[in-house]
Amino acid sequence: MAHCIFSQVPVRVPISSDSSFRRPVFKTNNVTFHDKSWTSGKPFNLRSENARSRSRFVVCMSVQQASKPKVAVSPVTLEDAKEPPLHLYKNKEPYTATIVSVERLVGPMAPGETSHIVIDHGGNVPYWEGQSYGVIPPGENPKKPGSPQNVRLYSIASSRYGDNFDGKTASLCVRRAVYYDPETGKEDPSRKGVCSNFLCDSKPGDKIQLTGPSGKIMLLPEDDPNATHIMIATGTGVAPYRGYLRRMFLEDVPTFKFGGLAWLFLGVANSDSLLYDDEFSKYLQDYPDQFRYDCALSREQRNKSGGKMYVQDKIEEYSDEIFKLLDGGAHIYFCGLKGMMPGIQDTLKRVAEERGESWDERLSQLKKNKQWHVEVY
Ligand code: FAD
Repeated sequence: MAHCIFSQVPVRVPISSDSSFRRPVFKTNNVTFHDKSWTSGKPFNLRSENARSRSRFVVCMSVQQASKPKVAVSPVTLEDAKEPPLHLYKNKEPYTATIVSVERLVGPMAPGETSHIVIDHGGNVPYWEGQSYGVIPPGENPKKPGSPQNVRLYSIASSRYGDNFDGKTASLCVRRAVYYDPETGKEDPSRKGVCSNFLCDSKPGDKIQLTGPSGKIMLLPEDDPNATHIMIATGTGVAPYRGYLRRMFLEDVPTFKFGGLAWLFLGVANSDSLLYDDEFSKYLQDYPDQFRYDCALSREQRNKSGGKMYVQDKIEEYSDEIFKLLDGGAHIYFCGLKGMMPGIQDTLKRVAEERGESWDERLSQLKKNKQWHVEVY
């Protein structure tokens, strides 16, 4: 069942200012990601890992809710590096990883198919929340016969510890790219997307060529654990935020105790298309003072003018609060299809003008302060 549309709660300003929880920003740097031999090459056993991670629920203190159980993570040396891992595996020498699972995320009424794909990298391709992996699909590049296919990027949808909390897997949230002939309206399988179809059709045990990790724009700034993070997504753009939210609310990370506010705006077609709704609804239940979750369902909801409800309409609805939070230093993130940005920018500009402000000035200030994070594709 979709929870998002019923789940709006009044905003509350995050109350914690306990500086004892401030993160000692990566004190040591004794792990070097460029030495690919630093990880243990222990074989991955999903069944025993699952059993182990199930038994790993521990009761620990979070800043806001002292009694919420969080999950122990390992290895905590993944917190040690000062800089994010970057380009450990390049196109010419990719890492061969193994598919663990492929799970359809959307219901039968969703237009299109989106899957959650867990990949075993054995701890050898570490990453930080907000980074992407490259995937080289099998086969020959049709434009360069004899050469491999071009790499495609995918935002990582798990925290650095992966869905099994052991630092050995990464998850992707992939929408199958299909092609409809504009004249006939019929699907043309010969023009379907190469890599997304390869990923969505893959089976446990299949091999997959990975590059990366890459990207710094969407890294979660952790210098202030009490900061506000406003996350705006359309569709699979929710991927990096799932990683952030697991780190904030699910995992017992010794060096990051989140005491701020996370506010997710998710735009999808209908309630069957919601992604990770159960996970997000659980955070809402457990951390009502620290998490807000608003969805725009374009084919089910109407905006105030009677048109389709897009994510920018939700932004407009809460624009006063959003602008105040930005004034207070909140980070704002945008991730998803390129087409989302013009509508959002127009709305933000209009709202700013109605408030007698210059959007251009505000935007350049947000960029200067490193509060503005955009990754669209
Ligand atoms: P391609 O084979 O590259 O084809 C691209 C499109 O062209 C398809 O829609 C295909 O149907 C169409 N096409 C193919 N042949 C023809 C033809 N002859 N004529 C007309 N059209 C044709 N995607 C996700 O699903 N999840 C993510 O988290 C994600 N994160 C990303 C992060 C970044 C930083 C970037 C840059 C992109 C991200 N993407 C993500 C998009 C992803 O990289 C791919 O672009 C996407 O999956 C499509 O790749 P493909 O190989 O399936 O399609």
